[in-house]
Amino acid sequence: MRADLVVVGSGLFGATVAQRAAEELGIDVVVLEARDHPGGNVWSQADPATGIEVHTYGSHIFHTSDERVWAYVNRFTAFNGYQHRVWAQHRGEVYPMPINLGTINQFFRTAMGPDQARSLLREQAAEAARAGEEPTSLEDKAVSLIGRPLYEAFIRDYTAKQWQTDPAELPASIITRLPVRLTYDSRYFSDRYEGIPLGGYAAWVEAMLDSPRIEVRLGEDFLAGLGPLTREACVGRVPVVYTGALDRYFDSCFGELSWRTLDMETEVVPTGDFQGTAVINQVDASVPWTRVHEFRHYHPERSYPDDATVITREYSRDAGAGDEPYYPVGTSRDRQRLVRYQELAAREQERSRVVLGGRLGSYRYLDMDKTVAAALDCFEQVVRPWLRS
Ligand code: UDP
Repeated sequence: MRADLVVVGSGLFGATVAQRAAEELGIDVVVLEARDHPGGNVWSQADPATGIEVHTYGSHIFHTSDERVWAYVNRFTAFNGYQHRVWAQHRGEVYPMPINLGTINQFFRTAMGPDQARSLLREQAAEAARAGEEPTSLEDKAVSLIGRPLYEAFIRDYTAKQWQTDPAELPASIITRLPVRLTYDSRYFSDRYEGIPLGGYAAWVEAMLDSPRIEVRLGEDFLAGLGPLTREACVGRVPVVYTGALDRYFDSCFGELSWRTLDMETEVVPTGDFQGTAVINQVDASVPWTRVHEFRHYHPERSYPDDATVITREYSRDAGAGDEPYYPVGTSRDRQRLVRYQELAAREQERSRVVLGGRLGSYRYLDMDKTVAAALDCFEQVVRPWLRS
């Protein structure tokens, strides 16, 4: 086996760097993947009983406003025109989410226009504004945007289930992922381009890795030493792109970073439509799951059975050893540790030609498009100069 570049992990970050390196530099790339399939958590497959494309690791909706990323991903798959809209169930009522004029009017039993709603939210957010400082925690940020009543109804308990971390400890950036709109626009994302890969996520990722110059080795774990290309065999000898968890690479020498993992409870239900939409969030503390996904709605262009549907209830919990990490938590303790790991990572990059990236490798809550953008940058700024010299 010849390797000019070793990529550890075949999620979108690893697959993008591998694809660019093989195509542009014509080098041999070995991709190590501990699981029995590539793609990381970006993975979907047809359910054998119904043929419905199921997102194995929870709903993934591709969206971007980045022209470079959109052009790049469209080389490997076309996208359907799906636009994500989410509903949130609260005390027996269903509201549009993210919070928009429809949500606000339904919640307050009013029929306000945008200006009235703006004044009301401003009034209700006054307690946060009075503090006079830029809010840094999720709770302060959310209250400053929507006021306390909407925060307590739609954000507080869902966030508690999703993160099981005091919202005063969580970074404000988690909540600014969601827009607040004073219009009836209920789209979940505001990006120019959006959709689901027509052939599913597996076909997309496989198309990226489909090159005679790329060898994907499944079931091989670089750190655990499963397979010939271990850390000891590679580091210092061949450039490495590592996309596993940042703390694990350094044997958690400064302590572990906290991650959330998800448990998915999937079932086939004997009806042609279970909930009428792809995702319904359960924002109350009384329901233990965070949301229900019904995957048939992601592909309105496909014909699916009219007497069966696949749903998944999603539960969130702390990731322990052996769990799949999904979300970096980013408490203040995590952020302190992160700075120290980032210093080590910079040194490793300079001395040993190992670059860390992706959601796990950079400990950042990256969406798919941001992951591809970061990988294209990593290739251009780090990997290509290494391999050309
Ligand atoms: N959130 C919430 N209520 C909702 C939806 C989201 O409180 O109905 C908050 C919650 O803290 C969540 C964050 O907004 O973690 C980001 O939500 P997003 O849908 O972007 O999360 P993802 O789909 O990546 O899990």
